[in-house]
Amino acid sequence: MTTGKTSMISVQALSKRYGPNVAVEDLSLSVERGSIFGLLGTNGAGKTTTFKCVLGLAFPNSGEVRFDGEPLRPELFERMAYVPETSALYGWMTGYDHLELTKRSFRRYDAERARKLVELFAFDPKKRVKQLSKGQQSALALTMAFAMRPDIMVLDEPSSGLDPVHQRHVLDLMIDAAAGGAAILFSSHQIGQVERAADHVAIMHKGRVLISGDVEELRAGEKVVEATFDGDAPPISGLDTDPHVRRVMRQGRVLRAYIRDGGNGVANLIGQSKPASLRVLNQNLEDIFLAAVGDDARDTMATLNQEGA
Ligand code: ATP
Repeated sequence: MTTGKTSMISVQALSKRYGPNVAVEDLSLSVERGSIFGLLGTNGAGKTTTFKCVLGLAFPNSGEVRFDGEPLRPELFERMAYVPETSALYGWMTGYDHLELTKRSFRRYDAERARKLVELFAFDPKKRVKQLSKGQQSALALTMAFAMRPDIMVLDEPSSGLDPVHQRHVLDLMIDAAAGGAAILFSSHQIGQVERAADHVAIMHKGRVLISGDVEELRAGEKVVEATFDGDAPPISGLDTDPHVRRVMRQGRVLRAYIRDGGNGVANLIGQSKPASLRVLNQNLEDIFLAAVGDDARDTMATLNQEGA
């Protein structure tokens, strides 16, 4: 969607290889001011590698990254917060030590906000990091990030290890920061959270972006035709090869066709086989994700089954 807003994080044609292995291939994305971009993907899809390349922690083989129109410069770090997937905290230091370090390093640090965040996440900042649970360590890292009031945030699985109450706090903090003008790029395996928080999303698999766009537009464009038959769902000629159909699933009496960009023809085609019921439903993000990466997973299962036979 072109909105004419400022692109705070812009990634163009990013590729990264580790030896012969392609971790990220030709990835482009743009995060506008006041926007939340969710990166979804299978394990090993290339999300963390993308973040590392964006932040200059790994060198891409090709591609260009810009922040607010500029290449990454040291002055930009004052405006940025990065919460990595694995803890970057010092085990022998306390939570207070980490907050003090953040205060001294970032002019934007807001001590009152930090105090409220510690209260919100309910961890003991007097404890050394090694005495904190995994979730409490994540809460400390998030407290440091949000206390800086950054306007560019890169969060790699920010809710990982947090209980549902604190996961909701993270969502609210992201939405609040974006409402205040921040651009947020984050990854998560929790599709429901991405659906709630993100206005834009990209689905990655094996280094490539399979689908990306405005979450509302994706949901409106992607539908599922669900038909129930009196007996087992029959094969329907031309359905699997229809260009609008991403994937067809048959399970007993139920047939589901995941379709994109207008599926009236598909519903009519299935209707000719006289199902007992026929519905056209909007897909949620999980349907879209599974339809995008599902065929590949199914092929892998088929190979495993053949090997086992
Ligand atoms: P997950 O959801 O499991 O955290 P991810 O989407 O973040 O996965 P990455 O960590 O970016 O995936 O990994 C992408 C690919 O690059 C994987 O195949 C991984 O094995 C490979 N890879 C990542 N880092 C390195 C490295 N330092 N050296 C070699 N290969 C790497």
